[in-house]
Amino acid sequence: MVLNIKRASSLDGATVNVQDILKPFDHQVGGHTPFTSLAHGHLLKPCDEREIYFYQKMPKILKKIAPLCCSTIQGSSVSTFDDSCHNCRQHHQLENVIIPESIEGSPILNKRKLSKNFIVLSDLTYRMKSPRILDLKLGTRQHGDQATMAKIACMTAKCQSTTSASLGIRLCGMKCPPCDSKNQMAINKYEGRAMDKLELFMALQQFFDVPEMVLELVQRKLIAIRDVLNEADGVRLFGASLLIVIESEPSESTPIDNLVRIKVVDFANSTFNGFQGDNFYEGRDEGSILGLETLLGIVQA
Ligand SMILES: [Zn+2]
Repeated sequence: MVLNIKRASSLDGATVNVQDILKPFDHQVGGHTPFTSLAHGHLLKPCDEREIYFYQKMPKILKKIAPLCCSTIQGSSVSTFDDSCHNCRQHHQLENVIIPESIEGSPILNKRKLSKNFIVLSDLTYRMKSPRILDLKLGTRQHGDQATMAKIACMTAKCQSTTSASLGIRLCGMKCPPCDSKNQMAINKYEGRAMDKLELFMALQQFFDVPEMVLELVQRKLIAIRDVLNEADGVRLFGASLLIVIESEPSESTPIDNLVRIKVVDFANSTFNGFQGDNFYEGRDEGSILGLETLLGIVQA
């Protein structure tokens, strides 16, 4: 299916008021790519072609741990997946949309101007009133097989000098809303990179300072992701993040399962066997599993 997405540079024949469906996304904590909020609980993420292909060809087992991807946009062509959400299949909300360079002052294009390409993902913070958000870079290696020597050296050094190499996680962004007289707490990726093991543990303990019932839910969801990675032979989540979102002001009508959402995100450098002529890997992704085990050790303490 080809829909009529146009870029701001070719403003002609607009049929949808873009302000009605695109809003700046307020809950981003990690990464350098600005996300834009789309109607019905979706995010518009600028990405490179590789990440589009990754979502298009993603092995079934990984779909359990990735956010739902409803559509991909390449230039003026939109593809909506067969397993997209009900809303995307019914309403084609992206039809005749012009994607502007910015919305309400927030850029939609990323710095690298790769943004002829977008993916439309489910927003983990959707319908949460006051989400706690944690973005942890996962694994002990972040560069993909296509990285240049300079990039490999830089990213390997970053892993060695941070908690990535020893713990399989590094704090990339964290935001806890103000509550119980405590001020909002926010940690960015630069502060995360500077953290040693103890500082990381202390920050995570603050993040997971939630009711016991919620913490048990976090544990169950982390174990489910670890179990998938244990089975995912040949998958390597280089450079991916674990995104954890917890509702801190649940209403009585919020289903318990919706209080915690955890997904693996950012697959631009990830691979699986047979993907894009990448190297062949055997067995499970030990680096990412180390990260999950570290985190489970903290939430189970
Ligand atoms: Zn959808």
